[in-house]
Amino acid sequence: MWQDNINAQLATLEKKAQKRKLPRMERSDEGWVMMNGRKLLNLASNNYLGLADDERLIEASIRAMQTYGAGATASRLIVGNHALYEEAEAALVKWKETEAALIINSGYTANVGILSALASREDVIFSDKLNHASIVDGAILSRAELKRYRHNDIDHLETLLKKTPVHKLKIIVTDTVFSMDGDIAPLRELVALKEKYGAILMIDEAHSSGLYGEKGEGLAHHLGIAEHVDIHMGTFSKALGTFGAYVTGKKYLIDYLINHMRAFIFTTALPPAVLGSIRAAISIVQQEHERRINLFTHSDYVRNELKRLGFNIGASTTQIVPIIIGDNERTVRFSERLQERGIAAVAIRPPTVPEGTARIRFSLMATLTKQQIDWALEQIALVGKEMGVIA
Ligand SMILES: *Cc1c(COP(=O)(O)O)cnc(C)c1O
Repeated sequence: MWQDNINAQLATLEKKAQKRKLPRMERSDEGWVMMNGRKLLNLASNNYLGLADDERLIEASIRAMQTYGAGATASRLIVGNHALYEEAEAALVKWKETEAALIINSGYTANVGILSALASREDVIFSDKLNHASIVDGAILSRAELKRYRHNDIDHLETLLKKTPVHKLKIIVTDTVFSMDGDIAPLRELVALKEKYGAILMIDEAHSSGLYGEKGEGLAHHLGIAEHVDIHMGTFSKALGTFGAYVTGKKYLIDYLINHMRAFIFTTALPPAVLGSIRAAISIVQQEHERRINLFTHSDYVRNELKRLGFNIGASTTQIVPIIIGDNERTVRFSERLQERGIAAVAIRPPTVPEGTARIRFSLMATLTKQQIDWALEQIALVGKEMGVIA
């Protein structure tokens, strides 16, 4: 019976402490959230620059909705391409100093859509083992051969590239900042490899767009190699505080996607309100450098303090800081204890991360205060000692 099978699978998840539950969120302000009726300091959101509750984004959304309505009414190729799209895409082209840009409904959709549009059965996709799930799903949907290289392991990637016939289309794809570890991809080395082997390089800047680079363009710009990356994908749903995603690159690439990307063609355009806030966020993020500076100051401080306390923060060098605990149940207990002490930070378990590396993941926000952070570190240290994670 299929029902018994489903219930058995749920029971297995429960037993392995891997069953997911939806928490109930109520409202949030100044770094705090109400979750399951408790007031918690939010160290779990991707609202890195604090733009999600910015009045300017909210007002731009309202204005857009009043002008263009609540819904887009159709896909962009039919009648959903309201004027805000062109404005926002023109702003993206300028910001990223590129030829063309396309806004896509979400980061998940973008990765699934781009990879499945570009690659097909005879092609090969080389993907970092810790890439986001949407990249894996895009590769599977494309039906290309998927070769997953060891995390940030350039030598392993080169071995795989070498073994692949020269005539095959090759796509190398990587997150720039890895969402579960907070470490960074070796983009310069990836560019060198893609040039050596004639591959396409695609990067996912979901956790770096808005943060790195002089105007928050992303990690590729920060490293001065933007024009060597063929496909730049990023989201508006994290540092930019709203929703949706983009892909930027050469004009022919964007034209190709408009014509071949099913996840773009066969879906309703974003609601005008979302485009309004995207447009506002693109301009704010380029100007308000102090947000980035605050975030980096906070991140450096938190990483150093957690290390000093004796926690294993893995290879993090960014605003995403895990403390790796290992065991699932212990990790879940750790996050519950943190909640009891007033901190929202998620337990991340397999299959999201490899077996035996369950962790608490903290993600920081520019808008936190030093007092909030020091208080949080105290709570984390107390729980760490209570549970024997640190001495
Ligand atoms: C969050 C994330 C996505 C998905 O973006 P959404 O806009 O939330 O759909 C894709 N890639 C990476 C690396 C992400 O962290």
